[in-house]
Amino acid sequence: MLFNISNNVNALIQDEIFDNYEITIEDYWKHNGITVSTSLIVLFQGVEYLMKSKITEKSALLLIENNKYDWPSLPNKTDRNFDELQTISGENLLGVFCAVLPQNFPILAFVDEYKELRIMRNKLVHSTGIDNLEYKYIIGKILNIISYFYNPIKWIELFKDMSTSDPTFGFWDMDLESAYFYQILDFIEESVPKGVLKSYLPYDINSRRYSCPECSYWLSRHLSIDINPKWSFLSPNKPTSNKIECLICRREYKVQRKICSNKNCKGNVISENEVCLTCYNHMD
Ligand SMILES: [Zn+2]
Ligand SMILES: [Zn+2]
Repeated sequence: MLFNISNNVNALIQDEIFDNYEITIEDYWKHNGITVSTSLIVLFQGVEYLMKSKITEKSALLLIENNKYDWPSLPNKTDRNFDELQTISGENLLGVFCAVLPQNFPILAFVDEYKELRIMRNKLVHSTGIDNLEYKYIIGKILNIISYFYNPIKWIELFKDMSTSDPTFGFWDMDLESAYFYQILDFIEESVPKGVLKSYLPYDINSRRYSCPECSYWLSRHLSIDINPKWSFLSPNKPTSNKIECLICRREYKVQRKICSNKNCKGNVISENEVCLTCYNHMD
């Protein structure tokens, strides 16, 4: 939801709407405030689902709120669908969740975040709302929550799956549509401070970044404007490394280490097809 708004903002920037009519990007986000609020509510619901999934790994019975006397478990009672039973929520959910957690779960940090999110969600659902709720805050929380339940870089895989599992994925052009994943990576980078993003990437964001021989090829072939995302990193990050890994297509490519022929470029990472992955010019 937030990514879609950000895409609209980028389209408006490209059409120079913000420069030509006295509208600011902040105005646009403010206008979409209901979507931003809804995102936080859905995020909180997602956190509760994740907590319930952890509890269910132990036993789904722990999720049932009904008095045990009312359980339809005796021989003379009729079976009832699990969905028809009342399940725990709020404080009870948090209590049961903490009781079943594996030892390596960062419980202290999580409980604080859960409580903070719950207060905000309650303000949105039951009260007067939150002034100036920033979409960037929600993005930061999403990365954080995913890292607690999976690992710090799992979001890349989850978001990638989200785009490739779209039933229309590949109808137009699979390579190009896959390369468009750069927009999600860019969106995340715009949304969280560099120091924070650092913890959620498998590579050092402060090191040199390169174009991907494949992703940049498909994007530049299909698009009239110059879009050349830099989401590839040397692996390992050493002067002699002859391999890069791309976060957009999640593939690795061999590279040659030689000086770029473009005098204005200091690049020395060249694709097998003789394209400099720093300035994206073809070598003479
Ligand atoms: Zn790539
Ligand atoms: Zn170059």
